[in-house]
Amino acid sequence: MKRAIWFILFLPVCVHAWNLPGLGSFKFEKVGANVYIMHGPLSLPNKQNKGFMNNPGIIITGKGVILIDPGSTYQVGKKVLEEIGKITKKPVIAIFNTHIHGDHWLANYAIKEVYPKVRIYGHRLMIQKANGQAGLFWIDLMDKMTEGESRGTKIVAPGHVSKHGDTLTIGGQHLRIHSLGRAHTDNDIMIEHVESKTLFLGDNSFNKRMGQFDNSSSMYGVIKVLKYARGLDIKTFIPGHGKSGSFDFAVKPFLDYLQKLQVIVKSGYEKGLENYEIKPVAANVLHAYKDWAGFDEIFGKHVSKMFLEVEARNL
Ligand SMILES: [Zn+2]
Repeated sequence: MKRAIWFILFLPVCVHAWNLPGLGSFKFEKVGANVYIMHGPLSLPNKQNKGFMNNPGIIITGKGVILIDPGSTYQVGKKVLEEIGKITKKPVIAIFNTHIHGDHWLANYAIKEVYPKVRIYGHRLMIQKANGQAGLFWIDLMDKMTEGESRGTKIVAPGHVSKHGDTLTIGGQHLRIHSLGRAHTDNDIMIEHVESKTLFLGDNSFNKRMGQFDNSSSMYGVIKVLKYARGLDIKTFIPGHGKSGSFDFAVKPFLDYLQKLQVIVKSGYEKGLENYEIKPVAANVLHAYKDWAGFDEIFGKHVSKMFLEVEARNL
């Protein structure tokens, strides 16, 4: 009888994790002292994942919750709040947005609706872009890719500038901001939680996923940032997409991939090969990465991007 009561009492908690049919259940998992991550699906935004694809993270402080990258839409933000409520009843008092890509920050709207006083932090250029054309572009793109699942999402840009070297104390917890210039974008910030030795990398690292490099990005810059991250006193690395863990687990594979790509493209360029001639050679050498999400669609673009960067350095 006692066992039956125990089961009934705890059943609702077990069955109510956020379920996306065909993709699984999503909930915040503890990765360090006061730090929890909800690892999102690896696919691009679509109707099935409702746009959810990133890794929202929370740090629980004495005064409330710090939320890093709340997600891609108003609807996703509501689900993220629901899942936070299963970990703590404290309010969300601060949000950090790691960069301009909409899958990381468009859910700000849902958080601001419930917690109007929340302080939202981001890079100076991210704030400018979110309030300009890029913000509208991302609202529109998310609507198209999710076939309307993001409808009603509105732009809520950060109001507080974060820059390299900033240190913040929020509810007794300490944060350091790292931002080294052009890398995944020209507006990345990485957030270090000092007490748990956790680093939120934004999209400077992906785990078992290819990822896009937009016009403001630099592959050379990402390599530099990831080597810099390796030198910090960090135990747990949180990539923008894919599972978190040690440097060797969550960061090194992506750094290795980019460095190998750099070597192959550079050597092809020095031999006088064209971009299209380097692609099949590179695909052959880097076949070990072909199981990463998005490889078939994105690999060619990665070679072209690296080629342009190598060429620009040789002009
Ligand atoms: Zn991104």
